[in-house]
Amino acid sequence: MYPSLKLKKNEERRIKQGHVWVFSNEVDNEKTPLKEFTAGQRVVFEDSAGKPLGMGYVNPNTLICGRLLSRSAKLELNLKFFKKRLQEAQALRELHFDQPFYRLVFGEGDGLPGLVIDRFGAVFVVQITTAGMELAKDDIIQVLINLYHPDAIVMRNDSASRQLEGLPLYEEVVFGELPEQIEIVENNTRFIIPVVGGQKTGWFYDHRMARARLQTLVKGKRVLDVFSYLGGWGVAMATAGAESVTCVDSSEFALDGVDRNAALNGVSEKMTTIQGNAFDVLNALRMEGEKFDVVIIDPPAFVKRKKDFKAGFEAYRRINEIAMRVLAPDGILVSASCSHHLTRDNLVQAVQSASRHIDRNVQLFEQGHQGPDHPVHPAIPETEYIKTLFFRVIASW
Ligand code: SAH
Repeated sequence: MYPSLKLKKNEERRIKQGHVWVFSNEVDNEKTPLKEFTAGQRVVFEDSAGKPLGMGYVNPNTLICGRLLSRSAKLELNLKFFKKRLQEAQALRELHFDQPFYRLVFGEGDGLPGLVIDRFGAVFVVQITTAGMELAKDDIIQVLINLYHPDAIVMRNDSASRQLEGLPLYEEVVFGELPEQIEIVENNTRFIIPVVGGQKTGWFYDHRMARARLQTLVKGKRVLDVFSYLGGWGVAMATAGAESVTCVDSSEFALDGVDRNAALNGVSEKMTTIQGNAFDVLNALRMEGEKFDVVIIDPPAFVKRKKDFKAGFEAYRRINEIAMRVLAPDGILVSASCSHHLTRDNLVQAVQSASRHIDRNVQLFEQGHQGPDHPVHPAIPETEYIKTLFFRVIASW
Protein backbone atom coordinates (compact mmCIF):
# COMPACT_ATOMS: atom_id res chain seq x y z
CA MET A 1 0.00 0.00 0.00
CA TYR A 2 1.14 3.50 -0.74
CA PRO A 3 1.41 6.24 1.94
CA SER A 4 -1.86 7.92 2.92
CA LEU A 5 -3.08 11.34 1.93
CA LYS A 6 -5.93 12.38 4.16
CA LEU A 7 -8.81 14.61 3.08
CA LYS A 8 -10.59 17.06 5.35
CA LYS A 9 -14.00 16.25 6.71
CA ASN A 10 -16.68 15.96 4.01
CA GLU A 11 -14.18 16.53 1.23
CA GLU A 12 -14.47 12.90 0.16
CA ARG A 13 -17.99 13.48 -1.16
CA ARG A 14 -17.15 14.30 -4.75
CA ILE A 15 -14.82 11.31 -4.96
CA LYS A 16 -17.51 9.07 -3.55
CA GLN A 17 -19.91 10.34 -6.19
CA GLY A 18 -17.54 9.17 -8.91
CA HIS A 19 -15.15 12.02 -9.55
CA VAL A 20 -11.42 11.30 -9.49
CA TRP A 21 -9.83 14.67 -8.76
CA VAL A 22 -8.69 16.05 -5.42
CA PHE A 23 -8.10 19.78 -5.09
CA SER A 24 -5.29 21.08 -2.90
CA ASN A 25 -7.64 22.86 -0.47
CA GLU A 26 -9.37 19.54 0.27
CA VAL A 27 -6.29 17.92 1.83
CA ASP A 28 -5.89 17.69 5.60
CA ASN A 29 -2.56 19.50 5.72
CA GLU A 30 -2.17 19.05 9.44
CA LYS A 31 -2.28 15.27 9.38
CA THR A 32 -0.73 14.72 5.95
CA PRO A 33 1.02 17.89 4.74
CA LEU A 34 0.83 18.02 0.96
CA LYS A 35 4.23 19.60 0.68
CA GLU A 36 5.85 16.51 2.10
CA PHE A 37 4.86 14.57 -1.01
CA THR A 38 6.84 14.66 -4.24
CA ALA A 39 5.42 15.44 -7.67
CA GLY A 40 3.83 12.30 -9.05
CA GLN A 41 4.10 10.28 -5.85
CA ARG A 42 1.66 7.40 -5.47
CA VAL A 43 -0.73 7.53 -2.53
CA VAL A 44 -3.81 6.05 -0.93
CA PHE A 45 -6.48 8.71 -0.51
CA GLU A 46 -8.31 8.54 2.82
CA ASP A 47 -11.37 10.26 4.17
CA SER A 48 -11.17 12.18 7.47
CA ALA A 49 -12.06 9.06 9.43
CA GLY A 50 -9.14 7.20 7.91
CA LYS A 51 -11.20 5.06 5.55
CA PRO A 52 -9.37 4.43 2.25
CA LEU A 53 -11.03 5.89 -0.84
CA GLY A 54 -8.63 4.41 -3.35
CA MET A 55 -5.23 4.66 -4.94
CA GLY A 56 -3.78 7.36 -7.17
CA TYR A 57 -1.07 9.94 -7.45
CA VAL A 58 -0.42 13.48 -6.24
CA ASN A 59 1.33 16.64 -7.28
CA PRO A 60 1.77 19.11 -4.40
CA ASN A 61 2.41 21.94 -6.89
CA THR A 62 -0.88 21.93 -8.80
CA LEU A 63 -4.42 23.01 -8.00
CA ILE A 64 -5.68 19.55 -8.92
CA CYS A 65 -3.29 17.92 -6.52
CA GLY A 66 -4.52 14.36 -6.69
CA ARG A 67 -6.04 11.95 -9.18
CA LEU A 68 -7.61 8.65 -8.25
CA LEU A 69 -6.77 5.65 -10.43
CA SER A 70 -8.56 2.92 -8.58
CA ARG A 71 -11.20 2.54 -5.88
CA SER A 72 -9.09 -0.28 -4.53
CA ALA A 73 -6.46 1.07 -2.13
CA LYS A 74 -4.46 -2.13 -2.47
CA LEU A 75 -3.78 -1.90 -6.18
CA GLU A 76 -0.38 -0.85 -7.38
CA LEU A 77 0.40 1.16 -10.43
CA ASN A 78 2.42 -1.46 -12.27
CA LEU A 79 2.58 -3.38 -15.54
CA LYS A 80 -0.38 -5.52 -14.58
CA PHE A 81 -2.50 -2.48 -13.80
CA PHE A 82 -1.73 -0.79 -17.11
CA LYS A 83 -2.21 -3.98 -19.08
CA LYS A 84 -5.70 -4.43 -17.68
CA ARG A 85 -6.74 -0.81 -18.26
CA LEU A 86 -5.40 -0.86 -21.81
CA GLN A 87 -7.21 -4.09 -22.58
CA GLU A 88 -10.44 -2.62 -21.23
CA ALA A 89 -9.93 0.46 -23.36
CA GLN A 90 -9.16 -1.59 -26.43
CA ALA A 91 -12.32 -3.67 -26.02
CA LEU A 92 -14.48 -0.55 -26.28
CA ARG A 93 -12.68 0.50 -29.47
CA GLU A 94 -12.96 -2.94 -31.01
CA LEU A 95 -16.66 -2.91 -30.36
CA HIS A 96 -16.91 0.07 -32.73
CA PHE A 97 -14.06 -0.12 -35.18
CA ASP A 98 -12.78 -3.04 -37.20
CA GLN A 99 -9.44 -1.45 -38.03
CA PRO A 100 -6.66 -0.47 -35.61
CA PHE A 101 -7.04 3.28 -36.03
CA TYR A 102 -8.45 5.03 -32.99
CA ARG A 103 -7.79 6.85 -29.75
CA LEU A 104 -6.87 3.90 -27.55
CA VAL A 105 -6.81 5.82 -24.26
CA PHE A 106 -8.72 8.99 -23.45
CA GLY A 107 -7.48 10.03 -20.00
CA GLU A 108 -10.10 10.13 -17.25
CA GLY A 109 -12.66 8.69 -19.68
CA ASP A 110 -10.70 5.43 -19.63
CA GLY A 111 -9.70 5.51 -15.98
CA LEU A 112 -6.22 6.75 -16.85
CA PRO A 113 -6.01 10.43 -15.89
CA GLY A 114 -3.08 12.21 -17.49
CA LEU A 115 -2.70 9.74 -20.36
CA VAL A 116 -3.77 9.86 -24.01
CA ILE A 117 -2.75 7.26 -26.56
CA ASP A 118 -3.64 7.40 -30.25
CA ARG A 119 -3.19 4.29 -32.32
CA PHE A 120 -2.25 4.48 -35.98
CA GLY A 121 -2.00 0.78 -36.78
CA ALA A 122 1.39 -0.33 -35.47
CA VAL A 123 2.42 3.19 -34.45
CA PHE A 124 1.37 4.54 -31.06
CA VAL A 125 1.47 8.19 -30.08
CA VAL A 126 1.46 8.84 -26.34
CA GLN A 127 0.70 12.11 -24.57
CA ILE A 128 1.34 12.42 -20.85
CA THR A 129 0.06 15.50 -19.03
CA THR A 130 0.68 14.81 -15.33
CA ALA A 131 3.72 14.14 -13.15
CA GLY A 132 2.07 10.97 -11.85
CA MET A 133 1.74 9.49 -15.32
CA GLU A 134 5.21 10.66 -16.29
CA LEU A 135 6.62 8.47 -13.50
CA ALA A 136 4.78 5.51 -15.06
CA LYS A 137 6.10 6.23 -18.53
CA ASP A 138 8.41 3.19 -18.74
CA ASP A 139 5.62 0.84 -17.66
CA ILE A 140 3.26 2.33 -20.21
CA ILE A 141 5.80 1.90 -23.00
CA GLN A 142 6.54 -1.67 -21.88
CA VAL A 143 2.86 -2.62 -21.83
CA LEU A 144 2.37 -1.20 -25.33
CA ILE A 145 5.32 -3.28 -26.52
CA ASN A 146 4.03 -6.43 -24.83
CA LEU A 147 0.45 -6.07 -26.06
CA TYR A 148 0.91 -4.73 -29.58
CA HIS A 149 4.49 -5.36 -30.77
CA PRO A 150 4.46 -1.90 -32.32
CA ASP A 151 6.67 -0.56 -35.09
CA ALA A 152 7.17 2.64 -33.14
CA ILE A 153 6.07 4.52 -30.02
CA VAL A 154 6.23 8.30 -30.08
CA MET A 155 5.93 10.59 -27.07
CA ARG A 156 4.21 13.84 -28.02
CA ASN A 157 4.85 15.45 -24.66
CA ASP A 158 4.66 18.99 -25.94
CA SER A 159 1.30 20.19 -24.62
CA ALA A 160 1.49 23.40 -22.63
CA SER A 161 -0.45 21.89 -19.70
CA ARG A 162 2.68 19.93 -18.78
CA GLN A 163 4.33 23.13 -17.63
CA LEU A 164 1.77 23.47 -14.81
CA GLU A 165 2.92 20.05 -13.58
CA GLY A 166 6.57 21.06 -13.75
CA LEU A 167 7.25 18.69 -16.64
CA PRO A 168 9.55 19.38 -19.59
CA LEU A 169 8.18 19.64 -23.12
CA TYR A 170 9.60 17.14 -25.58
CA GLU A 171 8.82 15.04 -28.61
CA GLU A 172 10.64 11.74 -28.95
CA VAL A 173 10.50 8.37 -30.66
CA VAL A 174 10.97 6.17 -27.57
CA PHE A 175 10.67 2.78 -29.23
CA GLY A 176 11.32 1.37 -32.68
CA GLU A 177 11.56 3.39 -35.82
CA LEU A 178 8.94 5.47 -37.52
CA PRO A 179 7.90 4.02 -40.86
CA GLU A 180 8.40 6.39 -43.80
CA GLN A 181 4.67 6.86 -44.14
CA ILE A 182 1.89 6.25 -41.64
CA GLU A 183 -1.48 5.65 -43.21
CA ILE A 184 -4.89 5.17 -41.64
CA VAL A 185 -8.40 4.54 -42.88
CA GLU A 186 -11.16 6.59 -41.32
CA ASN A 187 -14.67 5.68 -42.36
CA ASN A 188 -13.84 4.89 -46.00
CA THR A 189 -11.09 7.42 -46.65
CA ARG A 190 -7.32 7.04 -46.45
CA PHE A 191 -5.11 9.58 -44.72
CA ILE A 192 -1.38 10.01 -44.22
CA ILE A 193 -0.64 11.05 -40.65
CA PRO A 194 2.32 13.22 -39.65
CA VAL A 195 2.81 11.96 -36.10
CA VAL A 196 5.83 14.23 -35.81
CA GLY A 197 5.43 17.88 -36.71
CA GLY A 198 1.62 17.79 -36.98
CA GLN A 199 -1.04 19.13 -34.61
CA LYS A 200 -1.37 17.35 -31.24
CA THR A 201 -0.91 13.59 -31.84
CA GLY A 202 -1.06 14.12 -35.60
CA TRP A 203 -4.74 13.44 -36.19
CA PHE A 204 -8.16 14.33 -34.77
CA TYR A 205 -10.04 11.07 -34.38
CA ASP A 206 -12.71 12.84 -32.34
CA HIS A 207 -14.85 13.93 -35.32
CA ARG A 208 -15.01 10.56 -37.02
CA MET A 209 -18.72 9.88 -36.48
CA ALA A 210 -19.76 13.41 -37.46
CA ARG A 211 -17.66 13.20 -40.63
CA ALA A 212 -19.37 9.92 -41.53
CA ARG A 213 -22.74 11.55 -40.98
CA LEU A 214 -21.91 14.49 -43.20
CA GLN A 215 -20.65 12.14 -45.91
CA THR A 216 -24.26 11.04 -46.42
CA LEU A 217 -25.33 14.60 -47.29
CA VAL A 218 -22.74 15.90 -49.76
CA LYS A 219 -23.25 14.09 -53.06
CA GLY A 220 -22.91 16.59 -55.91
CA LYS A 221 -22.39 19.49 -53.49
CA ARG A 222 -19.82 22.27 -53.35
CA VAL A 223 -18.09 21.93 -49.98
CA LEU A 224 -15.94 24.40 -48.03
CA ASP A 225 -13.81 22.99 -45.17
CA VAL A 226 -12.54 25.81 -42.96
CA PHE A 227 -9.65 25.16 -40.51
CA SER A 228 -9.14 21.99 -42.53
CA TYR A 229 -5.80 20.77 -41.13
CA LEU A 230 -5.07 17.63 -43.28
CA GLY A 231 -8.56 17.52 -44.79
CA GLY A 232 -10.15 15.21 -42.25
CA TRP A 233 -13.52 16.59 -43.30
CA GLY A 234 -12.75 17.90 -46.78
CA VAL A 235 -11.07 14.86 -48.31
CA ALA A 236 -13.72 12.61 -46.77
CA MET A 237 -16.43 14.71 -48.44
CA ALA A 238 -14.62 14.44 -51.78
CA THR A 239 -14.51 10.64 -51.51
CA ALA A 240 -18.20 10.68 -50.59
CA GLY A 241 -19.12 12.29 -53.91
CA ALA A 242 -18.96 16.04 -53.35
CA GLU A 243 -18.67 17.91 -56.64
CA SER A 244 -15.87 20.17 -55.38
CA VAL A 245 -14.10 20.75 -52.08
CA THR A 246 -12.16 23.81 -50.95
CA CYS A 247 -9.93 23.51 -47.86
CA VAL A 248 -8.84 26.61 -45.95
CA ASP A 249 -6.05 26.66 -43.37
CA SER A 250 -3.36 29.11 -42.29
CA SER A 251 -0.71 26.39 -42.28
CA GLU A 252 1.18 25.36 -45.40
CA PHE A 253 2.15 22.12 -43.66
CA ALA A 254 -1.55 21.32 -43.19
CA LEU A 255 -2.48 22.11 -46.78
CA ASP A 256 0.41 20.02 -48.13
CA GLY A 257 -1.21 17.23 -46.12
CA VAL A 258 -4.55 17.92 -47.81
CA ASP A 259 -2.90 17.63 -51.24
CA ARG A 260 -1.26 14.34 -50.27
CA ASN A 261 -4.45 12.90 -48.87
CA ALA A 262 -6.48 14.02 -51.88
CA ALA A 263 -4.00 12.28 -54.20
CA LEU A 264 -4.02 9.15 -52.02
CA ASN A 265 -7.78 8.90 -52.54
CA GLY A 266 -7.78 9.86 -56.21
CA VAL A 267 -9.83 13.03 -55.68
CA SER A 268 -7.19 15.69 -56.40
CA GLU A 269 -9.07 17.12 -59.36
CA LYS A 270 -12.00 18.12 -57.14
CA MET A 271 -9.91 19.75 -54.46
CA THR A 272 -8.65 23.29 -54.03
CA THR A 273 -6.68 24.66 -51.07
CA ILE A 274 -6.44 28.25 -49.90
CA GLN A 275 -3.80 29.29 -47.38
CA GLY A 276 -4.62 32.18 -45.08
CA ASN A 277 -6.43 33.43 -42.02
CA ALA A 278 -9.88 31.84 -42.14
CA PHE A 279 -11.66 35.10 -41.34
CA ASP A 280 -9.89 36.92 -44.19
CA VAL A 281 -10.25 34.07 -46.68
CA LEU A 282 -13.98 33.76 -46.02
CA ASN A 283 -14.47 37.50 -46.41
CA ALA A 284 -12.53 37.41 -49.68
CA LEU A 285 -14.64 34.50 -50.98
CA ARG A 286 -17.74 36.45 -50.08
CA MET A 287 -16.51 39.54 -51.94
CA GLU A 288 -15.88 37.36 -54.98
CA GLY A 289 -19.46 36.09 -54.76
CA GLU A 290 -18.41 32.47 -54.20
CA LYS A 291 -21.12 30.14 -52.89
CA PHE A 292 -20.98 26.71 -51.30
CA ASP A 293 -23.70 24.19 -50.50
CA VAL A 294 -21.95 22.91 -47.37
CA VAL A 295 -19.59 24.81 -45.08
CA ILE A 296 -17.69 23.13 -42.24
CA ILE A 297 -16.32 25.30 -39.45
CA ASP A 298 -14.09 23.19 -37.20
CA PRO A 299 -11.66 25.65 -35.60
CA PRO A 300 -9.05 25.29 -32.88
CA ALA A 301 -10.39 26.06 -29.40
CA PHE A 302 -11.27 29.77 -29.29
CA VAL A 303 -12.02 29.51 -25.56
CA LYS A 304 -8.99 27.85 -24.01
CA ARG A 305 -9.50 29.26 -20.52
CA LYS A 306 -12.63 30.40 -18.80
CA LYS A 307 -11.52 34.00 -18.86
CA ASP A 308 -11.33 33.92 -22.67
CA PHE A 309 -15.04 33.19 -22.88
CA LYS A 310 -16.27 36.56 -24.09
CA ALA A 311 -13.69 37.03 -26.84
CA GLY A 312 -13.95 33.37 -27.80
CA PHE A 313 -17.74 33.42 -28.02
CA GLU A 314 -17.52 36.47 -30.27
CA ALA A 315 -15.01 34.65 -32.53
CA TYR A 316 -17.39 31.69 -32.87
CA ARG A 317 -20.25 34.07 -33.63
CA ARG A 318 -18.26 35.97 -36.23
CA ILE A 319 -16.77 32.98 -38.09
CA ASN A 320 -20.20 31.35 -38.29
CA GLU A 321 -21.69 34.57 -39.59
CA ILE A 322 -19.20 34.83 -42.46
CA ALA A 323 -19.68 31.12 -43.14
CA MET A 324 -23.39 31.71 -43.61
CA ARG A 325 -22.65 34.55 -46.01
CA VAL A 326 -20.89 32.20 -48.41
CA LEU A 327 -23.58 29.52 -48.13
CA ALA A 328 -25.92 29.01 -51.07
CA PRO A 329 -29.66 29.15 -50.23
CA ASP A 330 -30.75 26.17 -48.12
CA GLY A 331 -27.12 25.24 -47.54
CA ILE A 332 -25.76 23.20 -44.68
CA LEU A 333 -23.52 24.68 -41.99
CA VAL A 334 -21.59 22.25 -39.81
CA SER A 335 -20.34 24.20 -36.83
CA ALA A 336 -18.00 22.52 -34.39
CA SER A 337 -16.27 23.54 -31.19
CA CYS A 338 -13.70 21.70 -29.10
CA SER A 339 -13.71 24.34 -26.34
CA HIS A 340 -14.83 22.71 -23.13
CA HIS A 341 -15.75 26.12 -21.70
CA LEU A 342 -18.14 26.83 -24.55
CA THR A 343 -21.21 24.69 -23.96
CA ARG A 344 -23.43 23.19 -26.60
CA ASP A 345 -26.04 25.83 -25.76
CA ASN A 346 -23.41 28.56 -26.15
CA LEU A 347 -22.54 27.34 -29.62
CA VAL A 348 -26.19 27.13 -30.66
CA GLN A 349 -26.58 30.66 -29.36
CA ALA A 350 -23.53 31.91 -31.29
CA VAL A 351 -24.91 30.51 -34.56
CA GLN A 352 -28.44 31.70 -33.81
CA SER A 353 -27.23 35.20 -33.03
CA ALA A 354 -25.10 35.27 -36.19
CA SER A 355 -28.05 34.13 -38.30
CA ARG A 356 -30.33 36.88 -37.02
CA HIS A 357 -27.64 39.46 -37.62
CA ILE A 358 -27.71 38.70 -41.34
CA ASP A 359 -31.43 37.88 -41.44
CA ARG A 360 -31.25 34.13 -42.01
CA ASN A 361 -33.07 31.31 -40.30
CA VAL A 362 -31.33 28.21 -39.08
CA GLN A 363 -32.71 24.76 -38.40
CA LEU A 364 -30.62 22.58 -36.11
CA PHE A 365 -31.17 19.09 -37.49
CA GLU A 366 -28.38 17.01 -36.00
CA GLN A 367 -26.05 17.23 -33.02
CA GLY A 368 -22.79 15.34 -33.10
CA HIS A 369 -20.37 14.40 -30.34
CA GLN A 370 -16.85 13.17 -29.97
CA GLY A 371 -16.67 9.55 -31.14
CA PRO A 372 -16.83 6.47 -28.91
CA ASP A 373 -13.04 6.32 -28.67
CA HIS A 374 -13.33 9.48 -26.53
CA PRO A 375 -15.66 8.17 -23.81
CA VAL A 376 -17.12 10.75 -21.47
CA HIS A 377 -16.71 10.23 -17.72
CA PRO A 378 -20.20 11.20 -16.51
CA ALA A 379 -18.88 12.70 -13.26
CA ILE A 380 -16.26 14.82 -15.05
CA PRO A 381 -17.79 17.40 -17.41
CA GLU A 382 -14.33 18.30 -18.77
CA THR A 383 -14.20 14.94 -20.57
CA GLU A 384 -17.02 16.07 -22.86
CA TYR A 385 -15.62 18.67 -25.19
CA ILE A 386 -16.68 18.20 -28.82
CA LYS A 387 -19.88 19.75 -30.09
CA THR A 388 -20.78 19.36 -33.77
CA LEU A 389 -23.96 21.10 -34.83
CA PHE A 390 -25.57 20.53 -38.22
CA PHE A 391 -27.76 23.40 -39.41
CA ARG A 392 -29.74 24.08 -42.54
CA VAL A 393 -29.61 27.78 -43.28
CA ILE A 394 -32.56 29.28 -45.10
CA ALA A 395 -33.67 32.71 -46.13
CA SER A 396 -35.66 34.47 -43.46
CA TRP A 397 -39.16 33.21 -42.77
N1 SAH B 1 -10.76 20.55 -38.78
C1 SAH B 1 -9.54 19.84 -38.51
C2 SAH B 1 -8.93 20.17 -37.17
C3 SAH B 1 -8.63 21.62 -36.99
S1 SAH B 1 -7.18 21.89 -36.10
C4 SAH B 1 -9.76 18.33 -38.60
O1 SAH B 1 -10.91 17.91 -38.72
O2 SAH B 1 -8.79 17.58 -38.53
C5 SAH B 1 -7.04 23.59 -36.29
C6 SAH B 1 -6.47 24.00 -37.64
O3 SAH B 1 -6.76 25.39 -37.77
C7 SAH B 1 -4.97 23.86 -37.76
O4 SAH B 1 -4.65 23.14 -38.92
C8 SAH B 1 -4.44 25.29 -37.83
O5 SAH B 1 -3.36 25.43 -38.73
C9 SAH B 1 -5.64 26.04 -38.33
N2 SAH B 1 -5.77 27.44 -37.92
C10 SAH B 1 -5.61 27.98 -36.70
N3 SAH B 1 -5.93 29.29 -36.71
C11 SAH B 1 -6.31 29.58 -37.98
C12 SAH B 1 -6.79 30.77 -38.63
N4 SAH B 1 -6.94 31.91 -37.96
N5 SAH B 1 -7.10 30.68 -39.93
C13 SAH B 1 -6.98 29.53 -40.62
N6 SAH B 1 -6.55 28.39 -40.06
C14 SAH B 1 -6.22 28.40 -38.75
